Amino acid sequence: MITSTAEAAGDGADSGAAHSTMTHPPRSLLLAIESSCDETAAAVFDSEQSCIGNVVCSQIDIHARYGGVVPELASRNHVMAIADVVRRALDEAGADQEHIGAVAVTAGPGLVGSLLVGLEFAKGFCFAHDLPLIEVNHLDGHIQAPRLRTAQGFDEPVWPALALVVSGGHTSLYRCEAPGDYTEIGWTLDDAAGEAFDKVSKRLGLGYPGGAVIDGLAKKGDPAAIDFPRPMLKKPGHHFSFSGVKTAVAYHLDRVGAVEGEALNDLAASFQEAVAEILAIRTVSAARKHGLGHIIVSGGVACNSRLRALMKERAAHRGITVSVPPPGLCTDNAAMIGVAAWARASAAMRAGGGFAQHRVNARSSWFAGRR
Ligand code: ADP
Ligand code: MG
Repeated sequence: MITSTAEAAGDGADSGAAHSTMTHPPRSLLLAIESSCDETAAAVFDSEQSCIGNVVCSQIDIHARYGGVVPELASRNHVMAIADVVRRALDEAGADQEHIGAVAVTAGPGLVGSLLVGLEFAKGFCFAHDLPLIEVNHLDGHIQAPRLRTAQGFDEPVWPALALVVSGGHTSLYRCEAPGDYTEIGWTLDDAAGEAFDKVSKRLGLGYPGGAVIDGLAKKGDPAAIDFPRPMLKKPGHHFSFSGVKTAVAYHLDRVGAVEGEALNDLAASFQEAVAEILAIRTVSAARKHGLGHIIVSGGVACNSRLRALMKERAAHRGITVSVPPPGLCTDNAAMIGVAAWARASAAMRAGGGFAQHRVNARSSWFAGRR
């Protein structure tokens, strides 16, 4: 499934740039590429927060029948999609390869086979056009995603800020001094929150990925129907744990048997409430402890309607403001990689640097700011 700017950026996206008729000076644009998991994505930038082409090709349909991402299939499908995705992003920006002055690419963390496709494509592009290559940490991309300009303007976080990156592979809290300057202060000790959504969904026979389905059912259910545990809330520090919530759902199902209709909606709402409360309570408390007046929430689970509402409500109660990107920029995309890379890319473009980074390699784990 391929989405481009308006659709990929969800509500409030800047779609005015699509099919731009502007003429671009040669070598003035940044091409950004993301392929860390199961989305092949490319974006084109003409300035720091201005994405003028944004294409995401999701492999969800391919992996859904296996109940999760199959790494080998992900790599193969990235290989098949990447050239077309980059061409579409250039078309959307009204640009040609000659307008690109630097390439930014996700180098980790993620599935090595997937990362390698984007990285080697980027290296090839840079080698062919003698361009600088900027490697970007995927998590830095998620943290900077709210900085992208949309039709509603842009939601520049107030720095220093606290960032919650919450997705299928990650659930971490970062103290952020400025864009790119982070210290990881909390992380999950077991499952990521999105992984818990996906596993509960699988157990309920609702398919993969499960976050959006559970979010939909939860809207019709009672969040207080089942009292699922909220692990770690009384523990000092800023770490998370979600495997206990997931197991509590499994025990509940062992007890009551298959659920459907109202009981299914109640279970979805109660599970979602537990996860959203853990995330919101822990994040707001970490912000207060670190004296930070602004919270960034990003990553696929930041699409969750209850998490978005609860985080804003609990933060506002403490006088803390919140930035959350539109849903299409919460899940994996290349626009977030471009915004995270712009400062380094524009410096390299000004310096006239060419391709010298052929040794850059994919990193399956790359902790942003863990000390
Ligand atoms: P990755 O985990 O590979 O970094 P994404 O950032 O794209 O990928 O996040 C995907 C995760 O987000 C999946 O686990 C999915 O279930 C979850 N997700 C997507 N939408 C929602 C939602 N509305 N509620 C909860 N989780 C969601
Ligand atoms: Mg992600």
